[in-house]
Amino acid sequence: MQDHSPKAPPTQDLASDDPMLAPRYAEIATFMRAPLARDLQGVDIALVGVPFDGGVTNRPGARHGPREIRNMSSLMRSIHHVTRVDPYALCRIADVGDVRFTHAFHLEAALDDIAAFYRRVHAAGAAPLSAGGDHSITLPIFQAIAAERPLGMIHIDAHTDTWDEFLGSKFTHGAPFRRAVEEGLLDPKRTVQIGIRGAQNSAEGWDFSLESGMRVIFMEEFTQLGVEAVIAEARRVVGDGPTYISFDVDGLDPVYAPGTGTPEVGGLTTVEAQTLLRGLRGLDLYGGDVVEVAPPFDPSGNTALVAATMMYEILCLLAEAVAARRA
Ligand code: MN
Ligand code: MN
Repeated sequence: MQDHSPKAPPTQDLASDDPMLAPRYAEIATFMRAPLARDLQGVDIALVGVPFDGGVTNRPGARHGPREIRNMSSLMRSIHHVTRVDPYALCRIADVGDVRFTHAFHLEAALDDIAAFYRRVHAAGAAPLSAGGDHSITLPIFQAIAAERPLGMIHIDAHTDTWDEFLGSKFTHGAPFRRAVEEGLLDPKRTVQIGIRGAQNSAEGWDFSLESGMRVIFMEEFTQLGVEAVIAEARRVVGDGPTYISFDVDGLDPVYAPGTGTPEVGGLTTVEAQTLLRGLRGLDLYGGDVVEVAPPFDPSGNTALVAATMMYEILCLLAEAVAARRA
């Protein structure tokens, strides 16, 4: 523990590299004020930024997400006020920086860069918790961490992201989960999509999700069932197999998360989303992400704060899962 007594030698703080010991407005902003670690050795949970929005089909800006989420995540603290989980007491958690790109302007090549980065994280034995970036980044994450066996998924989003080709690419942010199913990385029968809504020009995404066996909880059913029943249904769908949580901030109502590229009104409240995530304790989680924060549409910074908060909720779940597997 840090010595708070006035007699503590002043050099003690100067010698510390731990941002958690600094005031929250000070120092370089890492995710949750976790230590920055370029070396993955000994890291249980890797917090990763993916500053990439080359997969968006409409308004860009999510490449700036990690920077702003890091800034707002300085407001996060250690012990969860409901569950009393302290993820930092359970796991070695580090901000491992951002994915480095050799090809930032070519969608498919950039996704290969992302996969290469996550293969290193996975090989080091760390579970990734990521901040996007647009939703196209989740496919290469799956390519790295689900290569041995498909994962189940709890997916919060206004969109199913199971569309096919769009304007010449099969890898936009509207397609990652169709590709993940085709590549055997995502088990559609252990996938639940929550908060789906908004008109489309083609039903092919909804149809793919339903026909592949995903459980799709459209927003109207979410409202009808209520959060507790949705939690029960989500837990039933993913069961006790390996699972991933993918949280697109446009699953939330734009009242709470306006800073995103493809907002859809009539979504989840922040309280509903937090309650939902807290209901997922005990799942066998292998990673998660929060994506689609577009700071150019987020002048107040609130969307980044909301995203950082959801990341913290997922961090608590992931830390318990990693610790349980170690025990
Ligand atoms: Mn999405
Ligand atoms: Mn979406």
